[in-house]
Amino acid sequence: MDCIFCKIAAGEIPSTKIFEDDQVLAFYDAAPQAPVHFLVIPKKHIGSALEIDANNSNQVAHIFEVIASIARQLDLDNGYRVVTNVGDDGGQTVGHLHFHVLAKRKLAWPPG
Ligand code: 5GP
Ligand code: ZN
Repeated sequence: MDCIFCKIAAGEIPSTKIFEDDQVLAFYDAAPQAPVHFLVIPKKHIGSALEIDANNSNQVAHIFEVIASIARQLDLDNGYRVVTNVGDDGGQTVGHLHFHVLAKRKLAWPPG
C-alpha cells in the first residue's frame, strides 16, 4: 500500500520523532500550524477514525496516554488541542489515522 504514514512508521521516510514504541509513533508535523504541532499515529494502518472499532480501539486509548505523556514532557500545561480530521469534509489529506496535537498559541474555537 502506498501510504506515506506507513512509510514514516517503517522508517522509510524520515521524520523528527518525539516518541516511539511497538504500537505508536509521535513525530513533528512537516507544516506546523502552531509553535508545537506533532502527530501521533498507530504503526499499523488504520484509514481514519471511521475505522475505529472494538479490535483496534485499544491503540487509540494508548495514543491518548502517549499524548498526555508528551504534553507533560513538553510543558504543555497551558493547554493543547487534539484533532483528528476524517474524510473530505473533515479536511483529511493523509489516509492513515493520525491525531494532531497543537499547542503554544491560543487556538480559535470553533475551527474554520
Ligand atoms: P490531515 O490533513 O490529513 O489532517 O493531516 C496530515 C498532516 O500530515 C498535515 O498536517 C501535513 O502537514 C502532515 N504531513 C504530510 N506529509 C508529511 C510528511 O511527509 N512528514 C510529516 N512530518 N508530516 C507530513
Ligand atoms: Zn498507512
